[in-house]
Amino acid sequence: MSFKDLKLNKPILRAVAEAGYDNPTLVQEQTIPFVLERRDVITSAQTGTGKTAAFALPILQLLYDKQTAPKKGKKIKALVISPTRELAIQINKNFVTYAAHTNLTSAVVYGGTSIEPQKDILKKGIDILVATPGRLLDLHKQDLLNLDYIETLVLDEADLMLDMGFIDDVKKIDRLCPDTKQTLLFSATMPFKVEQLANSILKNPERIEV
Ligand code: AMP
Repeated sequence: MSFKDLKLNKPILRAVAEAGYDNPTLVQEQTIPFVLERRDVITSAQTGTGKTAAFALPILQLLYDKQTAPKKGKKIKALVISPTRELAIQINKNFVTYAAHTNLTSAVVYGGTSIEPQKDILKKGIDILVATPGRLLDLHKQDLLNLDYIETLVLDEADLMLDMGFIDDVKKIDRLCPDTKQTLLFSATMPFKVEQLANSILKNPERIEV
């Protein structure tokens, strides 16, 4: 299967080719079509399988297809929650690479560092935000973040997120986003507590195991 077979559009295909990817990985082949259908998805996949592109590429495509908003005053339409700052930074880098031929913008916010520059980025307006849970809730509490326009929520490394004690934060974030959103959950392992979380927040999810 090729990326073209996955019905990705030209600007995305171009970025993927420039990244040197010849063909989609298994997790991409299986996940991308459901994300494009706006389904909820629960995917068990390890890091290194290409799971970041499995959600980033179709999210960019969905936003690109609907894009009408001007550059300024953009609303955040996709939110990716990641347990650690390193992972969050890496995910955002991937979004920047894959969005190179679109007008879509992304940013990353995480704790353990000054909140001020992150406030400025949010004020400018972005389409996609990658965040660690605590800092996201901080920014929301300070009224610096509007989650009312979120169309897709991604919970990445859900098992690690729960191991790190973020269960309540994740549930809170889920509730702050509109009911109508699509939710994508990725986890390397599927212990009972991840299943429980998935059962409580995903709607009729498609299950993918790689
Ligand atoms: P991830 O599992 O998202 O951490 O990705 C692991 C690595 O695989 C990253 O360096 C990606 O840039 C790379 N990658 C993702 N998708 C593909 C693909 N279809 N072909 C080749 N490399 C890929």
